[in-house]
Amino acid sequence: MSHVLAAVAWPYANGPRHIGHVSGFGVPSDVFSRYMRMAGHDVLMVSGTDEHGTPIQVQADAEGVTPRELADRYNRVIVEDLHGLGLSYDLFTRTTTRNHYAVVQELFTALERNGYIVKRTTLGAISPSTGRTLPDRYIEGTCPICGYDSARGDQCDNCGNQLDPEQLINPRSKINGETPEFVETEHFFLDLPAFAEAIGNWLDQRENWRPNVLKFSRNLLDDLQPRAITRDLEWGVPIPLDGWRDRTDKRIYVWFDAVIGYLSASIEWARRSGDPEAWRQWWAADAQGKDAVGYYFMGKDNIVFHSVIWPALLLGYSGEGDKGGEPGELGRLNLPTEVVSSEFLTMEGRKFSSSRRVVIYVRDFLERYDADALRYFIAVAGPESNDTDFTWAEFVRRNNDELVAGWGNLVNRSISMAAKNFGAIPALGELTPEDEALLAVARAGFATVGELIGKHRQKAAISEAMKVVAEANKYLSEQAPWKLKAEEDKPRQGTILAVALQVVSDANTLLTPFLPHSAQKVFELLGGQGVHAPMPRIEEVDDLDGGPSYPVLTGDYTTGARWESVPLVAGTPLSAPKPVFRKLEPSVVDEELARLAG
Ligand SMILES: [Zn+2]
Repeated sequence: MSHVLAAVAWPYANGPRHIGHVSGFGVPSDVFSRYMRMAGHDVLMVSGTDEHGTPIQVQADAEGVTPRELADRYNRVIVEDLHGLGLSYDLFTRTTTRNHYAVVQELFTALERNGYIVKRTTLGAISPSTGRTLPDRYIEGTCPICGYDSARGDQCDNCGNQLDPEQLINPRSKINGETPEFVETEHFFLDLPAFAEAIGNWLDQRENWRPNVLKFSRNLLDDLQPRAITRDLEWGVPIPLDGWRDRTDKRIYVWFDAVIGYLSASIEWARRSGDPEAWRQWWAADAQGKDAVGYYFMGKDNIVFHSVIWPALLLGYSGEGDKGGEPGELGRLNLPTEVVSSEFLTMEGRKFSSSRRVVIYVRDFLERYDADALRYFIAVAGPESNDTDFTWAEFVRRNNDELVAGWGNLVNRSISMAAKNFGAIPALGELTPEDEALLAVARAGFATVGELIGKHRQKAAISEAMKVVAEANKYLSEQAPWKLKAEEDKPRQGTILAVALQVVSDANTLLTPFLPHSAQKVFELLGGQGVHAPMPRIEEVDDLDGGPSYPVLTGDYTTGARWESVPLVAGTPLSAPKPVFRKLEPSVVDEELARLAG
């Protein structure tokens, strides 16, 4: 048994999440965490909403609300979306907690003390008419990279590149159109080149990473530059140094604070658990965390933050870059075991885009379809290692042909037949080679499916589980227990159904990480009582350090099924089952495409 950290990418709190977001990191990290818990590991699955930075400030300005009010609104929306999908976070929090501010400032301070944060003079913009600082977001101009004519001073929304205001061609103030004046100003930079060697050594020891992630990360090391970690902006974590602490025009850059969220959320979880030091079992590089592994889940656009920048922060904090140093008060910290990056999901052949309405939000999806139908599609056809396309036609086809006609049908016909003829789980009689073979296939699934999930090959894993389902359907068709109507055939009929039900139970366990909602239902149809697949809950909590209260996702996942075959007990009463999955009408496709066309 080990301590497994599942560190899940932090959704940005500027709007509701669409299914492209959750297919990359949300569902895969939950499948992994659920399996690891079932296999007996101590899992800590953490994340939260990322709430600082310019886009939230800009959107709040546009709506005439404060950034905090905007973040409050979307934090709640996102918590509800993730809850609806059944994502089993131990803690899903946010970056505006006082705990997070304190942890971010602790890392900043220790990195500075160890010499890894350097002050640099850069060019900052001021308004010539007022003499006041012009924050990056109020400067607009032509992107020097792609030529887009409304790029912002910190980022081009067209090509996605980070920018500095003075790079813009024809810069102008968004407030009054005047040309800003650039004067010298000071900012803090993370000395990334001081970590190139240590990160290179660490990457050399990585095993089992997806090859593209490893190659991409190694290439980044060839040209590491110091990277700005503060910004001209009022919305963010204050800079914890004398002379800077009280300045309202400079804040820690959002990427620096968000990536520290994995650690601060783990600490918050521990403080809420009643053992404030418990987080160390997943993080400490000393004996306390010696069996700890950490898996980071994200989309491919975020690899650099997890395979280079976050390791650099952890190394610098622990005093392990080129400049040495002493660990901060949290002690030496573990680096990621693996960066699990997914590719992108497109929709009907196009990039998801809220503004162009090429989108289906999680909440709208869950209003019309079941969470497990989406989870199934993501597992079997999601962007695990290639960009993949979501189409409504394919969603309906997979739901109807595979989930309903394959798995749902097996559950339904085996339980109805047993309920009708025996009213209970029948006893196993003498087993034929065919019976033995099917039972063996199901039992063998625990090793194969489990190993594949452990290696982040979830597509292959769910295919293996569905092979067990197909074998069981074939067995039932061949054995045709419905034909055994004579009284003397009753024991053989009972045995066939008992074998089928045992395989239904095993297949259900194999599918539990992927389809937790329906797994609980199937478990109950087989006469099971209590929790089979634990679910998260939304809880309103007080900020631990006196800030405003907020909703978190959390749960008790210590109960529930184990990753093993559990023999069914003959005589357990059964009743006629209700269908576990819903068949979708073909007209769904046209309705959804019409919505997209708007
Ligand atoms: Zn651009």
